[in-house]
Amino acid sequence: MIRCPYRGQAVSTGIEIDEATFARLPDTLILSRCPLCGLEHVWWKNEAWLEPTRYDTPRKTGS
Ligand SMILES: [Zn+2]
Repeated sequence: MIRCPYRGQAVSTGIEIDEATFARLPDTLILSRCPLCGLEHVWWKNEAWLEPTRYDTPRKTGS
């Protein structure tokens, strides 16, 4: 998960990764598309965090 700089809300990066693998990743720049604003955000791995309910994607109408 990252925080969208435009909406200020937590959004999913669309990347599913387990905690151990995530912890081993070096701090690197990652590019991913934001489902909130539709833009691509570049973020550091250190800025992101894991969302424990990976398979519970909230469904919103009108998307
Ligand atoms: Zn965004």
